[in-house]
Amino acid sequence: MPWIPRGLRDGIVTTRYPRRPDGYGEGFRGRVVVHPGGDGDLRAGSIAEACPTDAISIDAGQFCLDRGRCIMCGRCVELYPEVFEFEPDFETSAIGRDRLVVPDREEDDASVARTRSELARRVKALRRSVHIRHLDAGSDGAEEWEVAALTNPVYDVQRLGIYFTASPKHADLLLVTGVGAAGMLRSLQHTFEVMPEPKVVIAAGADAISGGLIGHGYAARGGIAESVPVDVYVPGSPPTPFGLLHGILLAVGLLPEARRPSTPPASNARRSVRPGTAVPGPSTPEDPPTEAGP
Ligand code: SF4
Repeated sequence: MPWIPRGLRDGIVTTRYPRRPDGYGEGFRGRVVVHPGGDGDLRAGSIAEACPTDAISIDAGQFCLDRGRCIMCGRCVELYPEVFEFEPDFETSAIGRDRLVVPDREEDDASVARTRSELARRVKALRRSVHIRHLDAGSDGAEEWEVAALTNPVYDVQRLGIYFTASPKHADLLLVTGVGAAGMLRSLQHTFEVMPEPKVVIAAGADAISGGLIGHGYAARGGIAESVPVDVYVPGSPPTPFGLLHGILLAVGLLPEARRPSTPPASNARRSVRPGTAVPGPSTPEDPPTEAGP
């Protein structure tokens, strides 16, 4: 019975997140941040062209980054480390597509506040337990590994009253992965239609948000937002289990949306993740999650 000494040796591995900050999340590539400046106009065009998904653009002489398109390939960070940097955060989900675009605009805040309060009113009844129907709408399989990890002993989402269900008729939350493949759109819409009210939709991963590398074409619709109304966006390719968990808790109104820095503070420089590098040290989130749990 080797599991007895192994259990005694490892102790409790289950995360306490969201009740307590968690050190596991610190080693993940969370998001790309844009430093102001760089070496200016001469290379601006080539920096934007380096991105395989057109996530980087230039607006009024300023770099814009669409995290909904970013597949976290690290190309911009490797080529232009003075401009782009990985930040090790996992609370990157957002209510409203515009929230994934940096730098943020002030007018977005009012519209996000409206969307957020409408969502909060809708999900009031979902506080005690949540049933999720996961639907693969043309994924490459990467997101599915992360979704499956949510039920392992480390994340153990059942402890929060979160369950997966095979039937959309029993589901409160539709978790969609994949690019929105043309052959899956009817199934996606039908799944959404038969779910009872109130219901919430999460687009999980860059593919579901924007189509990722595939984008918009005859075989895919550039994400799922044209087919079903998306409430919460979880960026990443794939998003980590912590990222998914943050999106789920955000969708059902149990967490505040993490503050969104458009440029990294100087103190973050040493915490950033280089490709293939884990960052040690305790978690120090800027917006600690609420103590309330489902
Ligand atoms: S890390 Fe994201 S923004 Fe940078 S090149 Fe890759 S996809 Fe583009």
